[in-house]
Amino acid sequence: MANYEIDDIFADILERAKALDPANSRSWFDKLTVLHLDGGSLGIGCPDEATVRFLQDNCKNSFTRAAQQVTGHLIAVDFSVSVKSKFAGQPKRSETELRLHPDYTFDNFVVGPSNRLAHASCIAVSQSPGNTYNPLFVYGNSGLGKTHLLHAVCFETRQKFQNTVIRFLSCEEFVNRFIRAIEEGNLVGFQSQFRTVDTLIIDDVQFLREREQSQEEFFHTFNALYNNGKQIILSADSPPGKIPSLEARLISRFNWGLVARIDPPSYETRVAIVQKKAHLRGFSISDEIAEYIARKVQANIRELEGALTTIYAVATTTGSEIDLELAQTALEGQIKASARHISITDIIGVVTNHFDVRLADLQSKKRSQSITEPRQICMFLARNLTNHSLEEIGGHLGGRDHTTVMHACNKINQVKETDPKMNGLLNDLTKQITQPVKI
Ligand code: ADP
Ligand code: MG
Repeated sequence: MANYEIDDIFADILERAKALDPANSRSWFDKLTVLHLDGGSLGIGCPDEATVRFLQDNCKNSFTRAAQQVTGHLIAVDFSVSVKSKFAGQPKRSETELRLHPDYTFDNFVVGPSNRLAHASCIAVSQSPGNTYNPLFVYGNSGLGKTHLLHAVCFETRQKFQNTVIRFLSCEEFVNRFIRAIEEGNLVGFQSQFRTVDTLIIDDVQFLREREQSQEEFFHTFNALYNNGKQIILSADSPPGKIPSLEARLISRFNWGLVARIDPPSYETRVAIVQKKAHLRGFSISDEIAEYIARKVQANIRELEGALTTIYAVATTTGSEIDLELAQTALEGQIKASARHISITDIIGVVTNHFDVRLADLQSKKRSQSITEPRQICMFLARNLTNHSLEEIGGHLGGRDHTTVMHACNKINQVKETDPKMNGLLNDLTKQITQPVKI
């Protein structure tokens, strides 16, 4: 195949992958390159290790399905760092261990009055680790951007100081590794891992509560780093003094540097975040809809993003344009049901009700059209309206494997494209699933 043909096919695959999984589509997909497309395998080149990890963890299924739909063949998709990239070569050990989310950069972080101090102090410590605020302690409720900021610090510090050693992990991981080190009798190895870094970032330190031995170890790690002028950054859901049963000596140390609070975002910040997130996914969204979402979802940015995802999922599943009415329908259901996520059980409930079949039939081995069709529709809707993997969806429907689910989704997709009746039905079912439960 000529190169330009491969590029065309790849462009189609990217478009299809975006449509199949709007929540995980990103505008930077355009920067991905084809390394090869032959012998049933598609190699995709990525700019860096964080991108490879993101695609591997979130997009493998949608890319595989897209490649299959576009080429008509079973294709194995593989992501790797492209040799053309400026980050090419073996990733550094610290790079593979950091597990950074490519979305969580300073560029993608919207600054407003609620997070200005936390943002500014994170920028300051990444420009000059160990010299400004040490430790830096960022706290706020769940879903307000703490983890995002900590990842951004890692990206920025690594960019500025190429040889610096950064260690970033959740407090839970710290505790688990500590326990494992004790079990394996390798405490020295554990200590040297954490006491020799230039920047140590620990997310969610409220996890230390009531873990006395881990607190003791953490205290010594803290002292070793602090005394050597190394940067320590911590996050938690409350200020140091409010973390239950945290030792006084840790509370006092956590207060030595700067303690920055993140508050829930204002309306204007929420609108800007919705627009930023839509842009990141390569979607355009009108101001009217961004404002609507920002008015409806107030406390938690993760839910703001969830709302955006739901709207796109509904639009993609029903093949409709996103207008205010669709956004309202999609979201009213989510919000009225106290922002719960759509579950496979909800979907099965609506589908079995509509077709008047029993769940046991869907889970059985029966292959008559009257059972197969609702079963496949359940799989298709679960794939589009939830974040469950193909395996999980198959598991709910009689322990079927992922290829069966993939086949069902492709089948319904095809029928939907040619048969307006199917399209209308899916539309209808989606509305019922996403609409409020009437009590
Ligand atoms: P936390 O760690 O505080 O629970 P996260 O950092 O995981 O919250 O943030 C939840 C989601 O909200 C993430 O997808 C993150 O990108 C997004 N987010 C939070 N604050 C902002 C912001 N100011 N700008 C853009 N996205 C944000
Ligand atoms: Mg977090």
